[in-house]
Order: sequence, then structure tokens, then C-alpha cells
Amino acid sequence: MVIPFYSEKLTNIGVLRATLLVNAEAAAKATITVQDNVLLVGSDPVVNFSDVGVALASVPPVVTRPVETRTANQRVPIDVKLTLTKSSSYASPDSEEWWPAKEVRHFQHMNCRNCANRLLQTSSSFQCKDLPSEHWYELVECWICHETKPEEHRARMQPILARPDALLVGSTYFLVHPDNIISDAVVVDKPLASRVKWDRGTMSKWIMFNCNQCGHPIGEGQYEQRDEEIKLLAAKFFKYCVSILPSLKYQPTFIDFFVCDLLEAAKVHATHRFIIQGRNSSQIYALLWLFNWDTTVVYNKGFLDSSNENSTVYQERVMKVLYLDCSHNDDILVQRHLLSWGKDKTADHLLYPDAYCRQLVTAICETTKLLPSSMRTMNHPAMTMTQNFSVGFVNRN
Ligand SMILES: [Zn+2]
Repeated sequence: MVIPFYSEKLTNIGVLRATLLVNAEAAAKATITVQDNVLLVGSDPVVNFSDVGVALASVPPVVTRPVETRTANQRVPIDVKLTLTKSSSYASPDSEEWWPAKEVRHFQHMNCRNCANRLLQTSSSFQCKDLPSEHWYELVECWICHETKPEEHRARMQPILARPDALLVGSTYFLVHPDNIISDAVVVDKPLASRVKWDRGTMSKWIMFNCNQCGHPIGEGQYEQRDEEIKLLAAKFFKYCVSILPSLKYQPTFIDFFVCDLLEAAKVHATHRFIIQGRNSSQIYALLWLFNWDTTVVYNKGFLDSSNENSTVYQERVMKVLYLDCSHNDDILVQRHLLSWGKDKTADHLLYPDAYCRQLVTAICETTKLLPSSMRTMNHPAMTMTQNFSVGFVNRN
């Protein structure tokens, strides 16, 4: 049976903080050592760090044994502090952008990722340009309010519009002019469109649209209503819903773009609290607190399944999050948190098609199971905003 192992790299102090689960007898007596980059409990190897390119310094591990050991066949956690060599301690570079304009400059076509339905006119040839940050408008607003005549500047600040034959590249979407889209390749999401109040707010509205062939969400369109008909003015195709031709080496997933959104929002709004909400249903799927945006975990899957025979070691670069799965929103505690987070103006709402919200929550819940049971929930009395929240990760690439 594999000895369950979970650790986090603390690169700033060059330490790997680990938890092992060993039987009570071993916890009381066995020596814990590192030999040739392998962690041993007595003579049993737990992890060969060379498998994942982690190098330990030749410093004896610092072991914290449990205060009391219970019955002999019960397994107990032991905390171990391991020292990394200098070369293992370097922080990784910042996350890259996915599919920026320079990478997609040879762009020809775009298909629905789910059913490969072609979306754009074959006759089009595109000029690719990066769009500024999603938050450019509010950043400029902050800046011009100190000018003597801010209204003059505001009048010149028009939203960026789609242009024919231009592929305008945002961080998570492509902005395309309707002239370049095959007619009927996309269809407005009918339930959402029926809820739009055209007599309120701006003349045009952003509404989600789906692939006409398979019905999967694929982006959102800017629509205006004329004579009871709605007309598409611009289309944002979500990068995680489409594939592009010629295809690139890596096809980023939804989680990759979710990471970009978290980082961007954290940078611009200095917020660490996020409400994950479905675009179709407006349902809140999770409350998420970004705890550490760049950390590395090294683990085997022993805590996930104690009868596990597979000793494979994994190393992943992750964001550590505290989260509350809100899929059971009839729970009193969930309701209480939803209410208090809803009032909190510093919490950012991140909206995605419902299917992607569900996928995200499932993925984060799975990561919690890799942790020792004592580390799976955060229950500090001083942190009422995150009481009973679970600890999990979002993978970074
Ligand atoms: Zn499709």
C-alpha cells in the first residue's frame, strides 16, 4: 500500500512542507530520512523526487510527530519539512496569454470545438489585432476624472466595435463582424433573449449565442432590436468554445482561460473574492477566494484512495483557493454565505455558460480529495467570510 503524501512548495523560503499518513507504530518509532532524493519512512520509499524534477538539499528533514498515537492499525498524519536546493526554489514565470494576435496571425477559419461546425465565411481573410485589457474603459475613467474637462475625453471614448475582415483578439475571446460569419452558423440563446428588457438601458444588448448545429454555447453577440427583429452587430467567440485553423500546438481549455480571468480581475480590482455564476440561469455555482495565485504542489494519490497501489508522484503549478460549492443552495450555511457575499461590493462576478461552471466546480472538488482530511476545509473562527469553505486548486499551465 502506498504511503499517502501531499506537499506544497514554499519557494520563497526554499521549503517543501509535506504531510504523510503512516501507521501508528511507524509514526512513533520509524526514522524519516532522505537518501538520494528519495523520502523514506524506515526503509520504505515514499516519494522519489527525481521523478518530478524536484531536488532536495542534503539537510535532514524536520519531523513533527502527532502528540498521541492511537491503536496500532490506525494511520496517523506526520508533518515533514524538507529543504529544497536553490535551483528548485525559483519561482515560475507568469502565466502566458492564450492565443494572442501574434500567435494566430495565420488565422483562416474558426470551428465550433464541440461539433466542428464551420463558423466563418471561407472567402474572408483576416487582419489580427490584439484588443486592450477588458478593463481599459474603467482604467481610463479613473485617469481622466482628474483632467479639467473630463466630459470631452469621455465623448471621444467609444467602445471598440467589430470591423469586417478584422479578427480582434481579446484575452478570452475573438471579436468578429457579422459580415464574416456564415449566416445561421450561430443562433441567439432563445430563453436568454426572451428575458431581455429592450426598453431599459442601452440600445444594444449582449446576449449569449449557441452553435446552430449542436446547440452548445459558443459566445455572445451584441444585438439591437429593430421592428421586433433582433440584429447581430458584433460577435464574441469564446476561445474555449472554438478551435481555429490552422491549428496551434496547444488548444487551451476552459480552465486555462478561467485562470487568466482570475489573474486579470485580481490585478485590476485588487480583489480576491469571486462569485462564479451561470450565464444562462444566473445561478451561483461557487464562491471562491483566491488564497495563493501561484504555488506548486507535489503529491501522490494516497489521500484520494487509501487502497491505492499506484505510487506515481505528480507535480503541478496551481492557484490555491478556498471555495464553497453552492450547487446545494437549500443548505442554510450556503444561503448565509450567498447573502453576505452578495452584499459585498468587492466580490467580482465571473459569468460563464452554465455547463462550464459545473465543469469548473467538479474539477476543483476533485482536487480537494488529494489533500489530507485535516487540510480539506478551512474553519478559522476569525475568518467568518470563509467559514466551512473547502480548500482546493485550480491548475495553471
Ligand atoms: Zn457545434
